[in-house]
Amino acid sequence: MKIKFIGVGSAFTTSEYFQSNLLITAESGRKMLLDCGTDIRFSLNSSPEACQSVVEEIDAVYISHLHSDHVGGMEWMAFQTYFNPDQRRPRLFMEQDTMQEMWNFSLKGGLGCIEGKRMHLTDYFDCRALPRDGVFEWEGIRFNLVRMPHIITGYRDFFSYGLIMEDVAHGGPMVFFTTDTQFQPGLIQEIAPRAALIFHDCETSPFKSIVHTHYDDLLGLPETIRGKIWLYHYQPCPTQRPEQDGFKGFVSRGRVFSLVEGTIRTEVRE
Ligand SMILES: [Zn+2]
Repeated sequence: MKIKFIGVGSAFTTSEYFQSNLLITAESGRKMLLDCGTDIRFSLNSSPEACQSVVEEIDAVYISHLHSDHVGGMEWMAFQTYFNPDQRRPRLFMEQDTMQEMWNFSLKGGLGCIEGKRMHLTDYFDCRALPRDGVFEWEGIRFNLVRMPHIITGYRDFFSYGLIMEDVAHGGPMVFFTTDTQFQPGLIQEIAPRAALIFHDCETSPFKSIVHTHYDDLLGLPETIRGKIWLYHYQPCPTQRPEQDGFKGFVSRGRVFSLVEGTIRTEVRE
């Protein structure tokens, strides 16, 4: 499997970085989008023709949570695929409560009807609602949902669902993709021994928002864990030097990780 970071920035990012959305390509060639933010039309590819062809190749979508840098491109994705007679409905994998809330609060206003027809999420996507600790398989890759606290109000807590991913069919090493999360040192230390790589949410601004993990928090992790961590979801022009601090580095936009038969290769592609 290949994991491509089509964007690496925070919600307030620029076109140099784009929002943190990922494209997975299975060994079969089928593609899955991990999150679909408002930038997706541009970050999927630079030319209109190329963007259309990539959309046609998308077999599945996974959404981690409901902030617009992760879900704001779903109306576009739904219409784009629904009105293309050559494309079948993409599968949509999501935690079940988040899927329901996405339809009711983020999408229904725009997608709830087309000319002469009332519509539901299932008209646009082949919906696979998952329990909060669910597991699903797609193209030989196993995905475990990991519930991450993102915004805790005590009234309506807001979780993001990270993923532990392993290409079981091709002996790929296990990777952990945190998605947006508050700092969870206990959980990271529990998962890290099993993971070959960790892609970690990383805020780099001078002030801490708390709802994201800050670079300075991650500095407190043991060296053996920092050595497995690639940082993403950072602010433009970060001033930190992650390699000097024992991390793998900041993921640059376009970086591809190839994970097959226990090996990891990485390169940057546009
Ligand atoms: Zn978020």
